[in-house]
Amino acid sequence: MTIVTERIYYTDPTCAEFEATVTSSGTVDGRTVVTLDRTAFYPTSGGQPHDTGWLGDAQVADVLDLDDGGIGHIVNAPLADGTRIRGRVDWARRFDHMQQHTGQHVLSAAFDRLHRARTVGFHLGAALSTVDLDKVLDASALASAESEANRIVWEDRPVSIRFATPEEAAGMAFRKEPTRTGPLRVIEIRDFDMSACGGTHVARAGEVGVVALRSWEKFRGGMRIEFACGARALREFRVLRDAVAGSLRCLSVAPQDLPSAIEGAQAENKELRRTLRDLGERLAVHEAGALVARAQPIGGASVVVEALEGWDQAGLKALASAAAGRPGMVAALFSAGEPALVVIARATDVNVDAAALLKSLLGRFGGKGGGKPDLAQGGGLAGSRADLIAAAVQIIAASLQPGA
Ligand SMILES: [Zn+2]
Repeated sequence: MTIVTERIYYTDPTCAEFEATVTSSGTVDGRTVVTLDRTAFYPTSGGQPHDTGWLGDAQVADVLDLDDGGIGHIVNAPLADGTRIRGRVDWARRFDHMQQHTGQHVLSAAFDRLHRARTVGFHLGAALSTVDLDKVLDASALASAESEANRIVWEDRPVSIRFATPEEAAGMAFRKEPTRTGPLRVIEIRDFDMSACGGTHVARAGEVGVVALRSWEKFRGGMRIEFACGARALREFRVLRDAVAGSLRCLSVAPQDLPSAIEGAQAENKELRRTLRDLGERLAVHEAGALVARAQPIGGASVVVEALEGWDQAGLKALASAAAGRPGMVAALFSAGEPALVVIARATDVNVDAAALLKSLLGRFGGKGGGKPDLAQGGGLAGSRADLIAAAVQIIAASLQPGA
């Protein structure tokens, strides 16, 4: 049986080192779970992730809120019952959670007070923090709530912890009516927000540093808003600063002109691609004439099998298709490199199956591909240019034989 653990963080959230006695040590699902008579470790609950740290030399990887009022520390080494140990909470991680969590109280209260937008969800993740609102706000409403939250932070208002009986709580103006029964832990940001909450918060709003909205989207009839506070906001700023600086160097424009410069570059790129495709098609038609002129008569058809420099898959396809537009033509075109690409096309009046020809080639030289009787393409053929051409000629000739 677990003894109810004294939660040091309830009254002293800044306590990162403490002495305690091991009250139980056992194994659950192959993991060692240790309980203590008192702890400063925060267990995953209320949208806030657990702390990490050390119990003596044992590493604490996870902290659980147990059903019977105990707190379970998942450690990498067992600890004997009755041992006196020194616990150390990873303070950088905990303080980050305190900044995000307190920032969330301030932000949620700002949405509520300015726009009557209630917070219906909160998540504090390793990288992202979100609040879910019950209504949709426009960009200027979001900005005004963000400004209001930062005003409260910069006024450095005290954030107090107290405990209230159900009778006392009945007369208190909570932002959100508490659903818990029994005594409540009340977190108050002076003259701004009162919430029943079991999480860890900073002692003064100024420690939050800054509250910044990262992004927002419509979500379940309301909105999901991603935000960052304190050191996370600074890290985010640095990432964005470097990304923007890099983009500005590439495009040689002022920051405010970046979106339109990217739009302009995209439009230009699209136009160039269209021009390039048109030119490629015209070039293919032109080159196809030369190919047809070099065709060999085999089995009643005109056959051209060549390896061509400087053509990609799309170009080879355009070229082979253009050649096969002439009556009696069969074209098998390879790229110059190894492994090779290949496109096989035939005119509608020639009775060979391009897909079957390709399959024979792939059977000999490996690679992948497929197609239809009039046009097939593949890649990854391992063979010298001479071998590929000789084999293709042989396979085409065999399939053009009467009765083939
Ligand atoms: Zn809280």
